[in-house]
Amino acid sequence: MDNIDEIRKNLLDNPPLGYSKEDIHNMTDEDLLKLYNSTIDKNIKYKCRNCGYTCDIPEKIVIKFDKLYGDTYFPPKFSCSNCHGGSMYPLFYKGINGKIFKFGE
Ligand SMILES: [Zn+2]
Repeated sequence: MDNIDEIRKNLLDNPPLGYSKEDIHNMTDEDLLKLYNSTIDKNIKYKCRNCGYTCDIPEKIVIKFDKLYGDTYFPPKFSCSNCHGGSMYPLFYKGINGKIFKFGE
């Protein structure tokens, strides 16, 4: 997507956390583009502790789980879709409260 009007519309339809529609309306094209680039979906790499299977989980979803169920000591984990028995942990994830999680620690 490189059309600034389309980007503006996209951000208006789904304003990023901390931004109101009015903020987005008042933004310059340049700021809008910066904001847009920062909201492009990032993925967190997850790995199964049981079988070693890896997959990418959108950061958005990880953060959502972190907010819902997260605590200070454990990152959000997901069940493995490969072996169905294992739990998947992030290779690297910075929790919403600032704690860094690394796989195997
Ligand atoms: Zn597995």
